[in-house]
Amino acid sequence: MSEFHDVVIVGGGLVGASLAIALDRMGVDVALVEATPAGGLPPVFDQRNLSFAAATVNALQALGVMARLRAPTGPILRIHVSRAGDFGRVKLDAADYGRAAFGQVVVARDFGEALEASLSALQRLTRYRPARFVRLGGVADGRRAVVVADADGTRSLQAKLVVGADGTASMVREALGIAVDRHDFQQTLLVARLRTSQAPDGTAYERFTDSGPTALLPRGDRHYGVVHGVPRDEADAVLALDDAGWLGRLQQAIGWRAGRVLESGPRSAYPIVQVLAQLLVGQRTVLLGNAAQTIHPLGAQGFNLGLRDALTLAELAGESADPGADDLLRNYVARREEDRHRTVAFSSGLANLTGNPAPLLRPLRSAGLMAAAQAAPLQSWLVGGAMGFRGDVPELCREANG
Ligand SMILES: Cc1cc2nc3c(=O)[nH]c(=O)nc-3n(C[C@H](O)[C@H](O)[C@H](O)COP(=O)(O)OP(=O)(O)OC[C@H]3O[C@@H](n4cnc5c(N)ncnc54)[C@H](O)[C@@H]3O)c2cc1C
Repeated sequence: MSEFHDVVIVGGGLVGASLAIALDRMGVDVALVEATPAGGLPPVFDQRNLSFAAATVNALQALGVMARLRAPTGPILRIHVSRAGDFGRVKLDAADYGRAAFGQVVVARDFGEALEASLSALQRLTRYRPARFVRLGGVADGRRAVVVADADGTRSLQAKLVVGADGTASMVREALGIAVDRHDFQQTLLVARLRTSQAPDGTAYERFTDSGPTALLPRGDRHYGVVHGVPRDEADAVLALDDAGWLGRLQQAIGWRAGRVLESGPRSAYPIVQVLAQLLVGQRTVLLGNAAQTIHPLGAQGFNLGLRDALTLAELAGESADPGADDLLRNYVARREEDRHRTVAFSSGLANLTGNPAPLLRPLRSAGLMAAAQAAPLQSWLVGGAMGFRGDVPELCREANG
C-alpha cells in the first residue's frame, strides 16, 4: 500500500528543507525524502559561507528560521569591488539605498542546524530519512507515484506534486528526461575561514585578477569567509600549499584592504560548473534550487534564487487545492522566468569579470572600473544581486511580512 501526501519533496538540502517549512506554514501536508542519515546534517551544510540577500533574510525571518540561528550573523553594510591593474573601484553603501544592510553572512552549517530545529518543530511533516529517490511512477487520478528506497527496501509514495530539490546531479530531473545546458568554468573555488589584523567592519570585498576572483565576506565571528577562485589545473597545487604559502597567496590577491592575513582554517575546494535544466516542470513534478539551476557561487546567488523558487511554489500551493495542477505549474514557470534569467546572467557575468573573455562585461572592463563606478546601471546591477528583489518577488521576501 502506498502512502499519500499533498507534496513529496526529494532532497532535504538548503532549498528542500526551506520549502518544507514554507509549505507547512500554508497548511500543506508534506513528506521530505533525504538520502543522508538522520542524526547529522547533509554534507552540503558545510563550512561554506552563505551570503543571504536582504530578500532572503526577510523570508527566513518570517519563517522563524533566522531566530533559530545560534551563531551571530555578519551584516553586509558595504560592498567594495575592485580589479587588479585597474585604479577604479565600485563602493556601495547600504545606507545610500536606505537600508541597514544589503544582507547577512551565515555559515552553512549553522544554517543547517537552524533549519533542522525548524523542521523538528513541524507537526504535519513526514520525514523519510535516510531514504533515496529511486524513480518516478505514473500519473493517475491526480496523483504522481514516486518510489524511494530505505533500509527496509523500496516503498511507493503518492503525491499531488513531486518536487525535485535533489541538487545539481538531480535524479528527479533525469527521471523526467529533462536535458541540461552545462558550462564548465574550468575554475575551482577554495573556501576557508580567515583571520586578518583588521576584524570585519561590515565590508564585503570582491577582488578580480586575471587568474581568478577573490571575495572576502564579513562573518559574524570576527573572521572573514574567503572565496578564492583558481584555474582548475592549478587547484591541487594551491590546495597543497603550506599555510605560509596559502596566506601569502591570499595577501597578494586581496591586497591590504583587511590588513595582514594572519590565519586560515581548513580549505575546501569546489569545482565550478553551471548546470541549467532546459525545462522546470513535468507532469505533477517540478524542479527547484540546484536541480533547476546550478550557478557560479561567486555572486552568492544560488540559495537566494532557490529560496525564491521555493517561496513562489509555496505561495501558489497555499492558494490552490491541487498543488500539482497543470495551470499552477505553468503559472509557477511564468512567475520564475525573469528572476531566473536575470540571476543566472548576473552570476555568469560576475564570474566573467575574471580573466576569461566576457561578452557581457567586456565593455565595462575596457572602459575600466573607474568609469564603471560612476555608472548607475552597474551599481544598480550589483545592488540588485546583493538584495535579491528581482522579477515577481515572493510575498515573504518583502519587508514587514511577519
Ligand atoms: C563554495 C560555495 C559557496 C556558495 N555561497 C553561496 C552564497 O553565498 N549564497 C547563496 O545563495 N548560495 C551560495 N552557494 C550555492 C548554494 O550552496 C546552493 O545554491 C544550494 O546548496 C542549493 O540548495 P539545494 O537544496 O537546491 O541543493 P543541495 O543543497 O545540494 O541539496 C540537495 C539535497 O538533496 C539530497 N539528495 C540528493 N540526491 C538524493 C536522492 N536521490 N534521494 C534523496 N535525497 C537526495 C542531498 O543529500 C542534499 O541534502 C554556494 C555554493 C558553493 C559551492
